[in-house]
Amino acid sequence: MAKYTPMMEQYLTIKADYKDAFLFFRLGDFYEMFFDDAINASRELEITLTKREGGQDDPIPMCGVPYHSAANYIKTLVEKGYKVAICEQVENPKTAKGVVKREVVQLITPGTVMESAMLSERNNNYIASLSHFKDGSFVVVYCDLSTGESRIAQITLGFDAVIHELYNQPIKEIVVSSNLPESLQKQLMDKLQITLSYQDEVTFNGEYRDLCENLNDERLIKSFSRLLNYVQYTQKRSLDHLKQAEIIELDHYLSLDMYSKRNLELTETILRKGRHGSLLWVLDKTVTAMGSRMLKKWLERPLLDQVQINNRLEAVEGFYQAFLERDTLRESLKSVYDLERLAGRIAFGNVNARDLIQLKKSLKRIPEIKELLLQFDHKQIRDLASLLVYPEELVDTLEASIIEDPPISIKEGSIIKDGFDKQLDVYRDASRNGKKWIAELEQKEKQETNIKSLKIGYNRVFGYYIEVTKANLHLLPEGKYERKQTLTNAERFITPELKEKEQLILEAEEKSVELEYNLFTEIREQIKDQIPRLQYLADTISNIDVLQAFATVSEANNYKRPTFVEKKLEIKNGRHPVIEQVMDDGTFVPNDITLDDDKSILLITGPNMSGKSTYMRQLALIAIMGQIGCFVPCEEAELIVFDQIFTRIGAADDLVSGQSTFMVEMLEANHAISHATERSLILLDEIGRGTSTYDGMALAQAIVEHIHHHIHAKTLFSTHYHELTALEGDLPRLKNVHVRAEEYEGNVVFLHQIKEGAADKSYGIHVAKLANLPDNLINRASIILKQLESNDATDSKQIEVESDQLSFFSESVAVTKENTNSVSEHDEEIVQQLKQIDLFEMTPIEAMNELHRLQKKAKQKLSLK
Ligand code: ADP
Ligand code: MG
Repeated sequence: MAKYTPMMEQYLTIKADYKDAFLFFRLGDFYEMFFDDAINASRELEITLTKREGGQDDPIPMCGVPYHSAANYIKTLVEKGYKVAICEQVENPKTAKGVVKREVVQLITPGTVMESAMLSERNNNYIASLSHFKDGSFVVVYCDLSTGESRIAQITLGFDAVIHELYNQPIKEIVVSSNLPESLQKQLMDKLQITLSYQDEVTFNGEYRDLCENLNDERLIKSFSRLLNYVQYTQKRSLDHLKQAEIIELDHYLSLDMYSKRNLELTETILRKGRHGSLLWVLDKTVTAMGSRMLKKWLERPLLDQVQINNRLEAVEGFYQAFLERDTLRESLKSVYDLERLAGRIAFGNVNARDLIQLKKSLKRIPEIKELLLQFDHKQIRDLASLLVYPEELVDTLEASIIEDPPISIKEGSIIKDGFDKQLDVYRDASRNGKKWIAELEQKEKQETNIKSLKIGYNRVFGYYIEVTKANLHLLPEGKYERKQTLTNAERFITPELKEKEQLILEAEEKSVELEYNLFTEIREQIKDQIPRLQYLADTISNIDVLQAFATVSEANNYKRPTFVEKKLEIKNGRHPVIEQVMDDGTFVPNDITLDDDKSILLITGPNMSGKSTYMRQLALIAIMGQIGCFVPCEEAELIVFDQIFTRIGAADDLVSGQSTFMVEMLEANHAISHATERSLILLDEIGRGTSTYDGMALAQAIVEHIHHHIHAKTLFSTHYHELTALEGDLPRLKNVHVRAEEYEGNVVFLHQIKEGAADKSYGIHVAKLANLPDNLINRASIILKQLESNDATDSKQIEVESDQLSFFSESVAVTKENTNSVSEHDEEIVQQLKQIDLFEMTPIEAMNELHRLQKKAKQKLSLK
């Protein structure tokens, strides 16, 4: 078999090291891909697949993207979860002998993108690593490469807890050990849908060793090292902006499992997966991108410590009360650029002069922001002010060096100010003087030749020239000028002295451009030393921004400052922060709630669409808002600090998975029951809907009883099983409430008001009517309902006996068989009705009821015989 060409050999050698990535192989002005990479890339990127001779008999599949527009293609691939290895020519092709040397200079992966075009301003982009240890514990590390922050947490509650923890963070990629059990790897991919990468080296010898200095636990060091090693492997360049990892003690924060975070739509909605309609959407009145990212982090980890919570609330109160000052502050903050990501780009060496001007402008705002904050009476706000340190020297350097309106490119000059560097000034003088000399020469020549239209111009090919129109040529003296170029209407000439000056000017310009570039990189290096200070500033500014945002949203939406108490939760006229925003002003009906040790479970009944789910979620959202330090939507709130919040939304409302089975429902209920404490909040919304009536009801009841007897968590439990309302008699801490609905001229009117006691009926048919089901169908349903209700009243006993479904069926079958010979009109009708039943269109309870009715009808006939 023929051999591959040397270049293809080179390609294959490099590709062998990057099997799980698309290898972008630089060939002149293109990045080319070959073999399977080419086939897959042409599909994913919708570009043409071609072929190339590679030495073998068969041509090699190939596709490519132009170098200058590669960023967009890379972005597309990375957003789809792929990795891209950028392979450049690392020697000058003109001087290279044989095949040009090539190397991978960066591996771009979903978790390690740095290019601002690929990042979303208001979201962090995390890469995580997961390490497992023999005793069953895990360590998770998060790192946002664009901002340099890392967090590290130990998880001792098993792999389930790991999934819940990871789910709560915006992770794009996770780095694991290649011997993490496959079943666990699969769970990571299935449940979190992120890119999985491997790194087995867990000792860290790189130049950033001191990043691990604050970690004294071997496991934390290993886990962090795993991540750092992977990052170094992919980035292959400076990572000076990386900060030490912040250790997160998970039990210092309110724990929200993944179901709750999703169900409560804290940062994105279930259906559209967008920010719009989430709690974050309502609360995000930050004016900087850094603040917005910080707010999201707060929302993902509400606090437990009352002192910390009150500190935030106090600052919010300060901002709340001072509208004018807050408004001024917001204006100032608006002009603060994304210092956090800028610091990252400085470390990476990809800032340009414009970025530095933005940096300078942002920093110049610091004194006035500080001044403003110091005017407040609130200690918490003044404390923030004292954290803002103005980096005067840095600003002075930038002020002295970079011109105000520099070009994007840092390789074409016009970046550095006059007076900053002596040598640069000399070059610039030379070039300016030369140009002045040329301008003077033009005047002189005009006068001497008496040609008014004579002019001196410049182009890249001929340099400086003297141009004279053809009509005036006769006025030129002989022999003085050398002809260089002929145009239709004019001739262009040069003179030796003109060429001499030209040489000087061009040389000066070339040198000054080069010098400017060097000066710029020096300044950039100098700023690198300031990265930690910039990051600290960024952090403080983000804090201030979130707190002012809380004040702003609280004022706009009329939220009240909550107080925290030990025992009795009491909210007056609470509202759902998101739903009230999407409804017309004033149409949302507020409701009270109290919960304490004597009344810890509320059993909520009421028709569909009356507001049960809303009422339940409203409580969880208010609790979370309070614990992140924001005011809350109500008239008055005394809250207790919850340690965990659990939510389970019954199958009927389970929009998320659609395929959600009863099993999932039970798993989630189990998750709540096995982790909740008496300080937790549990929301069980219509649990037990996913199975047959009696199973569901029995389980629902047993779950409530279990929570009541053993867990004592504060619990809201909505149900459509009216039978459960009887529990109030047996369980002393359970109270019935219902959402009021009224019948008005045969139609149901929802009042959305929570009242004590159980609902009187379920109004299902009324709701069906609202949904515009055909009138005759509605009438038929009403008749069936009446029949069922009268049957229920006469022999509810019988249902219990017949609830054994097997005997129920066999009995019915027996009855039909017995009577096959003497099918009366009556029996025929029953058989017809049986045939018409569309079992797949019915809920279990409907099917049960229908069967019960038919059987009853059949039996009546028999007993008459
Ligand atoms: P349920 O869970 O009882 O079926 P939901 O809580 O899903 O009902 O509420 C259904 C709809 O009723 C909501 O989407 C909202 O439009 C409206 N609603 C619920 N609660 C209120 C309220 N307190 N005030 C005004 N409208 C409400
Ligand atoms: Mg509901």
